[in-house]
Amino acid sequence: MNLVRFLAVNIVGTLLRVLPFPCKTGLVKIGNPDRNSPVLLTCNYHLTVERVKRALRGINAYLLLANSRGINVWCASAGGLFTNHDVISVLKTSGIEELVDRRDLILPQLAATGVESKVIGEKTGWKVYWGPVRANDIPAFIKDKCQKSPEMREIDFPFMQRIEMAVAWAFSISVILTLFTIPLWREAVFPLIFLVWALSLLIFVSFPLYSRWLGPEGKRMGFILFDFGRGGFQLILWGVVILSLIIYSIAAGDFRWGFILRWGFVTSIIVVLLSIDLMGSTPVYKSGLHEDRLLRIILDEKKCKGAALCEGVCPRNCYEVDRDRHIATIPGASRCVQCGACIVQCPLDALYFKSPKGGIITPEAVRRYKLNLIGRRLVKVEGR
Ligand code: SF4
Ligand code: SF4
Repeated sequence: MNLVRFLAVNIVGTLLRVLPFPCKTGLVKIGNPDRNSPVLLTCNYHLTVERVKRALRGINAYLLLANSRGINVWCASAGGLFTNHDVISVLKTSGIEELVDRRDLILPQLAATGVESKVIGEKTGWKVYWGPVRANDIPAFIKDKCQKSPEMREIDFPFMQRIEMAVAWAFSISVILTLFTIPLWREAVFPLIFLVWALSLLIFVSFPLYSRWLGPEGKRMGFILFDFGRGGFQLILWGVVILSLIIYSIAAGDFRWGFILRWGFVTSIIVVLLSIDLMGSTPVYKSGLHEDRLLRIILDEKKCKGAALCEGVCPRNCYEVDRDRHIATIPGASRCVQCGACIVQCPLDALYFKSPKGGIITPEAVRRYKLNLIGRRLVKVEGR
């Protein structure tokens, strides 16, 4: 029954992934925890909570659910909706402080862009350990006394996650197109839905084939940025669809330019809708709609003392820390997704962003102002 429930939550959560899906905040006991059991904290996004609970099967632990407004950890942290205030609030109100002896708190690594371990420590006395990126790695992380391998720190975009993203986009676009099409062009509804799902799956499943041609530059088209990338993948895809339509109509013995033009136009809209933020739909690129995608991460070597907090929270493994010389370097800077986690956590403010025109985004600005929906750093973080 638990498996059925887990599958149902996963299916509904995936279909509605573009919407907030909140669950109750507070304390959840996993198994039979005692005074020495680990304490973990995550967001109150329903799908995440179910996956973390499932990953923790067989472990006795406390799980705190903080208010992220029903949004997943990374998006909520980047958007200023999962903050120090939310973590401190659940620590103080859930009763966890009476249940355990130690003050060790495991937070999801992807919260590091919005939650500051230093502030949590100063204000509550709890020491933050940044957990792994994937829930499935939590048991190994706990067993290994909160140590993470580089693989546990790095975010990727595996097949199942790409399928989930394809389903999420296909479902929401199908609903919108159906609502518009029913009153105007009823007989086109099912072919349209088929096209949306087929194209969405094709775009996301084939992502590894063309991802190397995507990049922060994007191609400016009108007033917004489409992620056409340097290879113009979506244009190629659209060309393939047109060719398929021509072949299909010739094979059916009913070739008409009107048919090709009508469905060519419709598929161009679908491809544009699916591609409007292709890079932002993946965890391995910054959104093509966000101006932050062009920022470079800069290290001030004079300030760095090699504490390695940056290395522990970077989801792209951009850092290397020389433990003998006590200094970090950023050999993987080209992989940076401008999440800002390293800047937020660096205790010495040795990191900052630099824009292509030479403008500096200071650590204080990265901590205080988060990104709004179109990627402008305008959302002021509560309580800072
Ligand atoms: S950049 Fe900051 S967090 Fe990284 S090693 Fe240097 S001082 Fe530590
Ligand atoms: S180097 Fe880039 S990807 Fe890594 S934590 Fe810093 S901002 Fe994020």
